[in-house]
Amino acid sequence: MTKLEQMLEGAASIVILGHVNPDGDCMGSCLAMYQYARKRRPDSVIRVCLKNFPGKFSYLKGYEDIQEEAGGESFDLCICLDCSDKERLGDFGVYLDGAANSICVDHHVTNTGYAGENIVEPKASSTAEVLYGQFCEALIDRDIAECLYTGIIHDTGVFRYSSTSAKTMEIAGKLMGTGIDFTRIIDDSFFKKTYLQSQILGRALMECIRFSEGKCIFTVVKSQDMEFYGVGPKDLDGIVDQLRTIDGVECAIFMYEIDTHMYKVSMRSNYVVDVSRIASFFGGGGHVRAAGCTMSGSIHDVVNNLSGHIEKQLLAVSADD
Ligand code: AMP
Ligand code: MN
Ligand code: MN
Repeated sequence: MTKLEQMLEGAASIVILGHVNPDGDCMGSCLAMYQYARKRRPDSVIRVCLKNFPGKFSYLKGYEDIQEEAGGESFDLCICLDCSDKERLGDFGVYLDGAANSICVDHHVTNTGYAGENIVEPKASSTAEVLYGQFCEALIDRDIAECLYTGIIHDTGVFRYSSTSAKTMEIAGKLMGTGIDFTRIIDDSFFKKTYLQSQILGRALMECIRFSEGKCIFTVVKSQDMEFYGVGPKDLDGIVDQLRTIDGVECAIFMYEIDTHMYKVSMRSNYVVDVSRIASFFGGGGHVRAAGCTMSGSIHDVVNNLSGHIEKQLLAVSADD
C-alpha cells in the first residue's frame, strides 16, 4: 500500500488542493485524485478546491464539482498537488492549516516540504506521473486516465520536454490502454487556440527582443495589450514555448503585467541554464528547464535583473568548455 493510500484509509473528510492559476497538470492531477478518492472512500466527504481555472478542461470528470471559494470547515486529510510551497495554495492554505493530516504529491525541484508527508519526485515529468505511482493500477479507469493523461501532456508539451522519460511513455501507454480519446485531448486542451489567443500570440512574437548574442529572448504583454485584445492571463499559455523554440535561443523570458510595475515572469531554457535557480532567487520556483516568479520594477529593470543571472550561468558554462 502506498503512502497516499495509507493516508486515505482513515480519512472521513478529504480536501484536494492545487496551485494558484492551475495549469493542465494541476487540473488533471486534482481531478484524478478526486475521482480516485471517491472510489477508495465512497462514504467520505471529498472536496476539490481550485480558483481561476481554464474552461478548456471542462471535459475532465469532476470539473463541475470544483469549489472556488474557501469556507470555514476543516478536514481530516488535506492533499496538495503540483504545488511547491504553501503560499501557492492561495486562499485555500487555510485548509492545510486546519487539517489533521496532510500530504503533498509534487515534482517541483523547489518544493519546500510544507506538508506532513511529502512525496516529491523532481525527475518526474508531472505530478500526474507521480500520482500514477501512488494509485493502485487496477482502480485507474478511463475517467481517471483522462485526467492523468491531460496532466502528463501539458507538463511535457506533448512528450517533447526533456522531463519526458521512458517511464513517462510507459505510463502514457497504460493510460491509452483504458480507451481514452487521446487525439481529442491533445488537440482540444493543448493545441487549440481561440482567435484572440492566436492574435495575442502573434503580437507577443512580433515584439520579442533578442539579447546576449541571440541566446536569450524576451517579450512582454502589457495590461493595455490584454485589454485591447480582450484576453486574460489564461490566454497567454504557450507564448514562452514559442520563444524557446526560436533558432539559437537558450533561454526565453515571457512576462505579463499583473499590476503597475509588477510582472508575472515565465522562463524556459533548452540545455544549460537552470531557470529554477533564477526564479527561486526572485522568490518563485519551478523546474530546471521551466520556472516562474513575480517581479516588480519597470520592464527594463526586470529584464536587466534576469539577464544578469542568465549571463552568469552562460559564462560559467563557456568557461568549462
Ligand atoms: P509558468 O512559467 O508559470 O508556466 O511556470 C513554470 C513552472 O514554474 C511551473 O511548474 C510552475 O508551477 C512554476 N512556477 C511558476 N511561477 C512560480 C512561482 N511564483 N513560485 C513557484 N513556482 C512557480
Ligand atoms: Mn503546475
Ligand atoms: Mn506540474
